[in-house]
Amino acid sequence: MKIAFIGLGAMGWHMASHLPKLGFEVLVWNRNFEKAEAHAQTFGTKATSVDQAVKADFIFSCLPTSADVEQLIAQNPPVKGSVWIDCTSGVPISALKLANQLKFNGVEYLDAPVSGQTIGAEKGTLTVMVGGDVDAYKRAKPIIQAFAGLIEYVGESGSGFAVKAVNNTLMATHLWALAEGLTVLKSKGVDLNSALNCINHSSGKSSMSENIMAQRVLSRAFPKTFALDLLQKDIGIATDLIQEQALNLPTMQLIQNQYKQIEKVKAQDSDFSAVVQVLEHQSKIELS
Ligand code: NDP
Repeated sequence: MKIAFIGLGAMGWHMASHLPKLGFEVLVWNRNFEKAEAHAQTFGTKATSVDQAVKADFIFSCLPTSADVEQLIAQNPPVKGSVWIDCTSGVPISALKLANQLKFNGVEYLDAPVSGQTIGAEKGTLTVMVGGDVDAYKRAKPIIQAFAGLIEYVGESGSGFAVKAVNNTLMATHLWALAEGLTVLKSKGVDLNSALNCINHSSGKSSMSENIMAQRVLSRAFPKTFALDLLQKDIGIATDLIQEQALNLPTMQLIQNQYKQIEKVKAQDSDFSAVVQVLEHQSKIELS
C-alpha cells in the first residue's frame, strides 16, 4: 500500500513527517520540488512526480485553497479505488463537487481540514474534522491517526470544511475582541501582562489569550506560521455559508469587515496575529 502527501507547506511538511511510522511507503510531492527532496532526506519519505503521487492508495493534499486542489485533481486524476483526503481549509461546495465527480470514477474524496497550528502538526496532535462517505472515512481514519490528536466525523461532504471555517472565524473573533479589551485596559494604565494573567485564570480566556497574545503580539514578534490571507479566506468561507443559508448573523460579518482591512498582498506576508496592528493604528495604542 502507498500513501502520498501533496503540499509540503507550513502544515503539510510536518503532517507528512508522521506518515512513515505507519510502515507503508510514503510519496511526497511539492510544487517547489526541492522541498520534497529535503523532506525525503529528513524523514525517509520518497520525493516523486505528481503523476506518481496521485496513483497512491491514500492521497493527502494540504494546499492554500479549494481552487488549487480542484486544478491539481483536474490535471492529475487519481486512480480507481483510492481515497483522496483533502486537509486544505476549503470551500464546502467544492468538497461536494469533488466528492461527486471523483466517486463517478471510483475514487472517494474526504474533506478533512485540520486545526492545531504548525506546533500541533509538528507534534502530531492535530484536530481533524472529516466530511464525506462514512466507509471511506473508516478506511482513512487509521492513516489520518498518524498526525491527529482528535479525528471527528462531522457529516456529509463539505461538513468538515464548514466546521473549520466556523472554528477559524471564532478564533479571529476571540483575537479581535481580546485586542479591544487590552486596548481599553492599556488606556487606563493597566499592565497588559498582569491583565492577561488574570484573564487566563478567568472566564474570558481563550487560546488567543493563553498563547497568541503574549507570544506574538505583546512580544512584538508576529512570527509568520499562519498567513493572514489564509484566515481572511476562512472567514470568507464562513460568511459565504451564512449568506447561502440566508441567516442574519452580524458578529461574523463584522469580523470579516475588520479582517478585510489588511490588503491581500500585505496579508500574504503577515502572520494572522498582525491583524491587531489595524486596531493599534486606529486607537493609537500599542499592545506591548
Ligand atoms: P503554506 O502557504 O505554508 O503552504 C502551501 C503549500 O501549497 C505549499 O507546499 C505550496 O507549494 C503549495 N501550493 C500552493 N499553491 C499551489 C498550487 N496551485 N499547486 C500546487 N501546490 C501549491 O500554507 P499552510 O501550510 O499554512 O496552509 C495549507 C492549508 O492548511 C491552508 O488551507 C490553510 O488555511 C490550512 N491551515 C493552516 C494552518 C497554519 O497554522 N499554517 C493551520 C490549519 C490549517 P510551494 O512550496 O511550491 O509554494
